[in-house]
Amino acid sequence: MSCLFVISAPSGAGKTSVICTLLQTDLDITLSISYTTRPARQNEKDGRDYFFIDRSTFTTMQEQGEFLEYAEVYGNLYGTSRAWIEDTLATEQDVLLEIDCQGAQQVRELYPQATSIFILPPSMETLKNRLEQRGLDESKIIERRLAAACSEISHLNQFDYVVVNHKLEIAAQEISCIIKAERLKTVRQMVKERALLAEFS
Ligand code: 5GP
Repeated sequence: MSCLFVISAPSGAGKTSVICTLLQTDLDITLSISYTTRPARQNEKDGRDYFFIDRSTFTTMQEQGEFLEYAEVYGNLYGTSRAWIEDTLATEQDVLLEIDCQGAQQVRELYPQATSIFILPPSMETLKNRLEQRGLDESKIIERRLAAACSEISHLNQFDYVVVNHKLEIAAQEISCIIKAERLKTVRQMVKERALLAEFS
């Protein structure tokens, strides 16, 4: 019985680095690669960071029900492949989605057993500095992302867990603890350990 984890955070909260660290230490979890209409940034690779597609391809896929969830974020469309999620969960592999709050809400409705984690930046100032230092986006976009951060944080109470990213390794460790605890939930252990339990019945 595999687990589905959803991680959301305002842009610049350090979510991608935390997830990278987590994936290096936990080989039983696979990150879903989203589809997006956003142009690729320098160093981003199609099929590794995202599947970069145009709007009309996105709309066609959306109309054909190919997305488990999708949302417009900062003027670009992002979506999660329904088939990939269903196939991967069927292989008993745990799945991690790195998506925004709108997407997290859609996933919660479809998979109420999913575990959702919100990553908070340690302060507004840190968030601003991180966005500026990344140098990935124009200042107009950075301003838009800062304004959106407050609105995203207002959805925090819909998440099961909140991790503050003071320090990358600690935040990754805390998320790893959440994942481990979820895997040990009775409902999952009763399935996984049925042979052991049968010995005692
Ligand atoms: P970025 O463009 O910085 O990579 O991502 C912008 C936002 O889109 C982030 O909040 C990220 O979590 C979100 N995002 C990435 N992929 C998906 C997706 O498949 N669905 C949804 N709903 N949001 C996504």
